[in-house]
Amino acid sequence: MELYLHIPFCVKKCNYCDFLSFPMDEAGKKAYHRALLRDIREASAVYKNQEISSIFFGGGTPSLLEGEKVSELLEAICRAFLVREDCEITMECNPGTVTQEKLCAYKRAGVNRLSIGIQSACDRALSLLGRVHTWRDAKEAFLMARQAGFSNLGVDVMMALPGQSLEEYEETLKQVLSLKPEHISAYDLIVEEGTHFARWYEKEPEAFPDEETSCRMYKKTVEMLTKAGYRQYEISNYAKPGFVCRHNYGYWSNEPYLGIGLGAGSYVGLRRFRNTTDWTSYLAKNTTEETAVLTNEEQQEEFFFLGMRRVEGISQKEFAARFPETDFAPYKNTLLHFLTQGLVREENGRFSLTVDGMLVSNVIFTELGLTAERIQKGGKT
Ligand code: SF4
Repeated sequence: MELYLHIPFCVKKCNYCDFLSFPMDEAGKKAYHRALLRDIREASAVYKNQEISSIFFGGGTPSLLEGEKVSELLEAICRAFLVREDCEITMECNPGTVTQEKLCAYKRAGVNRLSIGIQSACDRALSLLGRVHTWRDAKEAFLMARQAGFSNLGVDVMMALPGQSLEEYEETLKQVLSLKPEHISAYDLIVEEGTHFARWYEKEPEAFPDEETSCRMYKKTVEMLTKAGYRQYEISNYAKPGFVCRHNYGYWSNEPYLGIGLGAGSYVGLRRFRNTTDWTSYLAKNTTEETAVLTNEEQQEEFFFLGMRRVEGISQKEFAARFPETDFAPYKNTLLHFLTQGLVREENGRFSLTVDGMLVSNVIFTELGLTAERIQKGGKT
């Protein structure tokens, strides 16, 4: 099982962000720390015999936590569950919030992987995004992490930013590659409802790159990172051999995960549930919301929706093992339809997306979802 801890605090809200995150004073952070320890103890009563293969501190900005607090949380987790000796322990870091001392303390606490939110090597873009750091801060944070002894570092970059040209994005990739991280995540900017960017987009859509530019950025990412020795293993993720992010990969491979903290989601058995997102209620007592038991149809949709995000794709054999009662043929027909368009490939019984297919993955997933619906209704596909 994978463990996720949500740390919802940020120095300030970025202009594009719709995550569950907000600024918080010291008293609030202390209260939240106590609530997390309580949740870990409570989860232990149910899951104490579960083997934990990865722990992920996500947010928000987990790197606002002091090393001592991270250490207390990890000790509590080790008492609560069976944490594997080789457990991958990742901490998301915002470059504007770390010091050498803090990174060394994370390392001593047991964190063995950092995911650093660099986003861009262009200060103009960082300022538009509302990030609290410059490119220089990001580079310094990365080098400090190396000095602290981290040999597994991931960085996040964003593409299709307002006013961003292909050349500017290429320069970000070059600069990021010069740091030689073990892992790179490259995400398209998504304009989320309710954000500052959504209001901007409504008034001035032409300030944002068009679809053609963003497709060229995506293809440039695949080309440059592959050439530099990274293997693409998911639509937006690339790793040097041996450095795939275990936590994220587990998510796409249908592994169970348990979320601790405000609004954290879990997937255990066939149940998906989410902790309350209400701050005051969470501090008093955790309650879960949106409990759903996945139907057979939903499981099949997820099998494709998650599995085909991976470059290795899915196989008919895996499908037959998970859904012995369901005929694969209608899905195969849908996949073959996209294969003739060069969007899906088939190799050794596995179906996966081509780079062009990744650019229109939503269309393909929707069609596979519709296939599931038709099978359920017993109709033709
Ligand atoms: S640092 Fe991350 S979580 Fe916090 S506001 Fe910015 S994008 Fe959102």
